[in-house]
Amino acid sequence: MPKQLLLLAGRSLLERSVALFVAHPQVDEIVVALPAHLIAAPPSYLASSRKPVRVVAGGARRQDSVASAFQSIDRRTDVVVIHDAARPFASSDLIARTIDAAVEYGAAVAAVQSSDTVKRARTATGGDLLVEETLVRSTIYLAQTPQAFQRAVLREAIAAGAEGADATDEASLAERAGHAVRIVEGERANIKVTTPEDLAEAAARAGREGEWDPAIEGARIGTGYDLHRLVEGRPLVIGGIVVPSDRGALGHSDADVVCHAITDAILGAASLGDIGRHFPDSDPQWQGASSLDLLRRAAALAADQGLAVVNVDATVVLERPKVADHIGAMRSAVARVLGIEPGRVGIKGKTNEGVDAVGRGEAIAAHAVALLRASVRRARGSAAGPPPPRVA
Ligand code: MG
Repeated sequence: MPKQLLLLAGRSLLERSVALFVAHPQVDEIVVALPAHLIAAPPSYLASSRKPVRVVAGGARRQDSVASAFQSIDRRTDVVVIHDAARPFASSDLIARTIDAAVEYGAAVAAVQSSDTVKRARTATGGDLLVEETLVRSTIYLAQTPQAFQRAVLREAIAAGAEGADATDEASLAERAGHAVRIVEGERANIKVTTPEDLAEAAARAGREGEWDPAIEGARIGTGYDLHRLVEGRPLVIGGIVVPSDRGALGHSDADVVCHAITDAILGAASLGDIGRHFPDSDPQWQGASSLDLLRRAAALAADQGLAVVNVDATVVLERPKVADHIGAMRSAVARVLGIEPGRVGIKGKTNEGVDAVGRGEAIAAHAVALLRASVRRARGSAAGPPPPRVA
């Protein structure tokens, strides 16, 4: 069995390494070079619903596998990241820094400074190893992956490899092709699983960390709560939908408690304060405003902070009327302004069992939570900057 298919706490090195890139907001597509005998039936986890994952047959040497994968990347690709399947612990941040350095310098390699003194050896007559020289340790860096390249730079490096130069990594081929390669500070934890001892250490670490999903790295959660008094002569707007009722919620806007609670949950997750700070009652601009519009604006404020809504869930509490028949319309309305699928919006109705002001029908309340995750925009810099590179 190829070592990349060995299991760490139930998931292979390959699956874990691919997952780092499936989850990474800067990466658009993934190409996996597999041993030829696995091509007919690639592991099922390589089928990602979130971004394209292509499988190609690898070659005899590492550089042949990279050349094969390079052939199948999207032609619009700006930056290509190369990563060893045997390094399942690279952080999202390390991948981002390597991509950013490649954008700036053309080629970048993650590397850690050697903590051991490095000797160049020679074999003496008779076969004994002797020290030829001692290298200056402060200048010695041990290369890891990820390594990232602008597409044209990698094309030249691959051409250098095809002309016969053998290489243990692509950065050295880029050097030979005459390109400067930027060193990005690597990570000690980003080990290459090579020996049985490495595998044992990696398995212990994977076990300690449990099944952490890198997709939710950087995720933020927020809660929201709202309550409005119910009075005669007002429409009852809940989740953007007018619910037939003899009474409605009192407020400056449409007093939609569900939208207000979700708005606060989103603002809270993004540490942006609350609805009153952004859309104050005292500002005539928000008189009679649609709360769906406030919700849309709150999501845009979070997006400016590099955060995208993953899902929201709300509970609306009122004694009457029953809201069950309107829940589907509410979910669609909220999903539309948030730009997410209705399947990512939960809304439930409850009564307060006749207890307290809500139970007496004097008020309507709502509770909400929102989950946000780092969006592509943040990882790729400000919205006003140049368009993000396309990354394979
Ligand atoms: Mg309110």
